[in-house]
Amino acid sequence: MKAPKLRAASLGMTFPGNRLPVSSQHRPIVPSMDTHRLRNLHRPDILRERLEREGVLRTTLSFYRYVRLSEVEALRHVLYQEWEALGVLGRIYISQEGINAQVSVPTANLEAFRAALDAREAFAKVPWKIAVEDDGKSFLKLMVKVKKKIVADGLADDAFDVTNVGTHLNAKTFNQKMEEGAVVIDMRNNYECLIGHFEGAYLPKADTFRGAIEEVLVQLDGKQHEPVLMYCTGGIRCEKASAYLRHHGFTNVGQLHGGIIDYARQLKAEGIESKYKGQNFVFDERLAERITDDVVSTCMQCGTSSDRITNCQEVTCNMLLVQCPDCAAKYVDCCSPSCREIHVLPEVVQRAWRKGRSTRSTKTKAINDPEALRQRIHAEEAILAAGDTLHPELTNIITGGGSQLHLRKVKLDDKSASVGSLTTNN
Ligand SMILES: [Zn+2]
Ligand SMILES: [Zn+2]
Repeated sequence: MKAPKLRAASLGMTFPGNRLPVSSQHRPIVPSMDTHRLRNLHRPDILRERLEREGVLRTTLSFYRYVRLSEVEALRHVLYQEWEALGVLGRIYISQEGINAQVSVPTANLEAFRAALDAREAFAKVPWKIAVEDDGKSFLKLMVKVKKKIVADGLADDAFDVTNVGTHLNAKTFNQKMEEGAVVIDMRNNYECLIGHFEGAYLPKADTFRGAIEEVLVQLDGKQHEPVLMYCTGGIRCEKASAYLRHHGFTNVGQLHGGIIDYARQLKAEGIESKYKGQNFVFDERLAERITDDVVSTCMQCGTSSDRITNCQEVTCNMLLVQCPDCAAKYVDCCSPSCREIHVLPEVVQRAWRKGRSTRSTKTKAINDPEALRQRIHAEEAILAAGDTLHPELTNIITGGGSQLHLRKVKLDDKSASVGSLTTNN
C-alpha cells in the first residue's frame, strides 16, 4: 500500500524516489493506533528466558541527536512498530528536542536498522556508538517513551544558547589535553562515577544534573580561560553542559565526542592508552562495561577493594551499591540486614509486607554515604544478635488477619543470614 505522502513527510521521513523501504511497504505508515499492542507487557523473567532462547547474535549500540521532531506521539508508534519488526530491544526516549536511544539489534539486522534510521531525515547519518563489552543480552524489551526532554537536565533551555557547544574531541586529542594539564570534569550522575572515571577528574557530588553543573561553575570559578574537558557516558550530557559553561564565560571547553562508550571503541581500534580507569556504568541489564582492569572503588559494606555494582535485591529498596562477593553472600544480595530480613522471607510474607509501600523500580539511586551505611549495618547486626527483629511490624502481618503464617523466633548465629527465621505451614 502506498503511504499518504504528506503524512510521511510530517513525520520527518523522506524516501528517495518516493519509494518506501521494503520493511514498511505492506504496512500503513501511521499504524491503526492499536497502541495497546505497541508495548511489551511480559514479565521480566519471561522476557529473559525468551532472550536466552532466541540464540541470535546481538549488537548493543546507542545514539542521540538534538533535532526538532513534530507529532512525537505518532512518531513513537511508527518507530515502535518498525523497530520491533527488526527485533530491536532497548530504551528509546523521544521528545520535541530529539532522540536518545540505547538499543540492542540482531547483528544480522544492523544494516536494515541503519537504513531505517537513514530513511528519516531527522535521524539520517546519526552516529552510532557500539558497546565494546557485550553479550547481546543488554535489554529485555523494546521501550519507546515520549518525554519532555531527551535528557532530564532541569535547565531552562531558553536561558542560554544550547547550540553553542564545546569543541568535540576524539580520544587521542582528549588524552593529549589531559597530559597538558586541562581540568577534567565528569558530567555523569554521581552514582555512575563510582566504579570508573578519568584519572584526576572532578566528580560532582550533587545528585541532579542541574545541581552538578552549578557545582562545577563554583568549582571552576576563576578558570574561565583555562582549558576545561568534559565527558559523560555517550556525549549527550556534555552538549548541554558545555553550552552552559560557554554561556558562563568559559572560552576553552572541550568535550569527549561520543562519550566514554566511543572512547573505549577508539582505544581498541587505535591501540590508544586509556586514561579512563575502571568500568563504565551503563543503563542496561549489564550495569557496567569494563574499560580497564583497574578497580577504583571499594565495597560499601566492608571497605575492601571492589567494583562490583549491583542493586539491593529487596525490591522496595533497590538501591545501587558497590558490594563485594563476600558481602553479597553475607547480606543475601541486600544493602543491609534490614533489607535482608525481608528478602529472605517466604514470597507470600514479602508481598504482605510490601502492601502499601512504594517500590523503586528505577536503578537510579545509589547509596551515597558508605560510612553511614556501615554504621547502620553494625547497629542492625547488634539488634539481630540480641534475638530481636528489625521489622516489628512483621509480627502483625504474620499473626493478624487469620493468616496461616506463624512467626517462630530463631536465635541466629551471625553467618546464617537469618534464613528460616520465619516458616509457613501451608
Ligand atoms: Zn564487602
Ligand atoms: Zn536495601
